[in-house]
Amino acid sequence: MANLTRVALISCMLLVPAVAHEVEGRKFTLPPSATQTETSQIVGDGKPFYPQIVEGVVDNFKLWQTGSTVTACFFESSAVVRARFVSVANEWLAYAKLKIDFGIEPSYRTCDANASQIRIAFESKGNWSYVGSDSIRVDLTKPSLNIQDGAGNGQVLIDQLSFRATVLHEMGHALALQHEHQSPEAGCEDELKWDVIYAAFQTEYGWDKSKVDANLRSLVKSPRFRTTEYDPKSIMHYSFPGWMFTAGEGSKCFVGHNKDISELDKKAIAIAYPDSPKGQMDYLRSRGDFAQQVLTDLGVTSQQKERIGALINKTVVTAAPGFSISITASNCSGGGITTSGSYSPVFSCADTKGGDINYIINSK
Ligand SMILES: [Zn+2]
Repeated sequence: MANLTRVALISCMLLVPAVAHEVEGRKFTLPPSATQTETSQIVGDGKPFYPQIVEGVVDNFKLWQTGSTVTACFFESSAVVRARFVSVANEWLAYAKLKIDFGIEPSYRTCDANASQIRIAFESKGNWSYVGSDSIRVDLTKPSLNIQDGAGNGQVLIDQLSFRATVLHEMGHALALQHEHQSPEAGCEDELKWDVIYAAFQTEYGWDKSKVDANLRSLVKSPRFRTTEYDPKSIMHYSFPGWMFTAGEGSKCFVGHNKDISELDKKAIAIAYPDSPKGQMDYLRSRGDFAQQVLTDLGVTSQQKERIGALINKTVVTAAPGFSISITASNCSGGGITTSGSYSPVFSCADTKGGDINYIINSK
């Protein structure tokens, strides 16, 4: 258990927005009711939903609109660190039809009241990022991505390979990528020694069980963002020390410290941000089919599905205003709900046990 430092270097914390706040002076439009806590509302017949499941379903939809320009700004940091960050972050964009506007070099954009969609900080508070468009559903005055390795702005620090790998990993999250070791295809969950891990992470990082679960457990049985097979070379894969595995370093999930965007990472990001809006619409539609299947398999009620559908709609409309989502329900009295760009979900489904909910993604 002596090797926790190694985890600290490469691990990062995924943030799930809990409570969002409205901020004046924003440059982009937030949906009117994006200020509410979502996961806590996902209860149907009194049976609370495990938020991770809901997050897992909804995460499929946290992409930015393909072909768009996402704005980014920096909190207090030196020009040299900013330039290094921009250079590394842009490596992703060679494979995605997306632009990030970091402002004008050499100083780039400093975060101010005109909130950017991605807000980068270099504080000594770990490496973390919100996933995709979650960054605009939280407090816009605060960072949405932090790189601890850039703290101090030292030339020595930014020369380190770990800085580059960390930026690539966190930017992957900012583009809506999930952890690879949490891929349902990976099966890493079965390889880990959970009791030991809970105790160690509590002692070392103060992480409680839920935080450990959110960052290490396998995601919902559906691929969240997954479009490729399990990829141990992914920049989104943690490098866990051997003591965390039942099989030690013999575990299939024991991988080295990945430092580059893998070939499958490139493929995944290209599918998520294709050349045409139609391509992304088709992608989102396939995610909708997945969501439908997963929710059916989970045996959730129609009302829960509708609520999740409304949440998905909110997510899609937030980041990709060119899309809307229609949600129809069969086997329901009232015919379900339809939301198109605005969300005023009407819970018209009287049948709380079954019902098919169809998520239909449309382009306007
Ligand atoms: Zn991460």
